[in-house]
Amino acid sequence: MNIIIFGPPGAGKGTQSEFIVKKYNLFKLSTGDLLREEINKKSPLGIKITSIVNSGSLVSDDIINSLIESIVSNKNYKNRIIFDGYPRNLLQAENLDKLLFKHDQKINLVIKLKVSLDVIKKRITGRIICSKCGNPYNKFYNPPKEDTICCKKEFLQKRDDDNIDVAIKRFETYKKSTEPVLDFYKKKNLIKDINGEANIDVIYSKITDYLSVL
Ligand SMILES: [Zn+2]
Repeated sequence: MNIIIFGPPGAGKGTQSEFIVKKYNLFKLSTGDLLREEINKKSPLGIKITSIVNSGSLVSDDIINSLIESIVSNKNYKNRIIFDGYPRNLLQAENLDKLLFKHDQKINLVIKLKVSLDVIKKRITGRIICSKCGNPYNKFYNPPKEDTICCKKEFLQKRDDDNIDVAIKRFETYKKSTEPVLDFYKKKNLIKDINGEANIDVIYSKITDYLSVL
């Protein structure tokens, strides 16, 4: 199966896709990871990407497409890809369809985690990280308590980028850019809506319900 997981930043996509990857032995395709890998490899393409990124420009769709094709065309990953954070717009969705078709594959399911802006705000602004061991907490949903805290209190930190304006902006960008993409998959009858405000285990079991019948 090839699946896509959608959801605004802070919806818990990362957590869920890690679970799914492990259970179904999938390959998680994130364009950010692909770009970073190519840069680290210092391949001719990697060097080109480095200079584009350093100049502050966006990497073109052509480059992204060729990186994605390198995965889609790889027999080791055939029919076992989970797309995380891609496609971001309608053009990318259409390109992805063509690319998969060319390599005798398709998208089997699109998981959409639905979370309200209010919950996203609390998840993001409430985020607290233990700087010593990396354990995450949340002021609203999972506050660090005296008896459950991993390390000393002075290690607890709020993340720098966790401000509310950024959260709202990201949410709005997500809504605006993914709506046409979701329509595209809706027409193909591939979307499963999941309440992303539920408990992590509940969300995960819903997802596995859908995946187990594919
Ligand atoms: Zn800790």
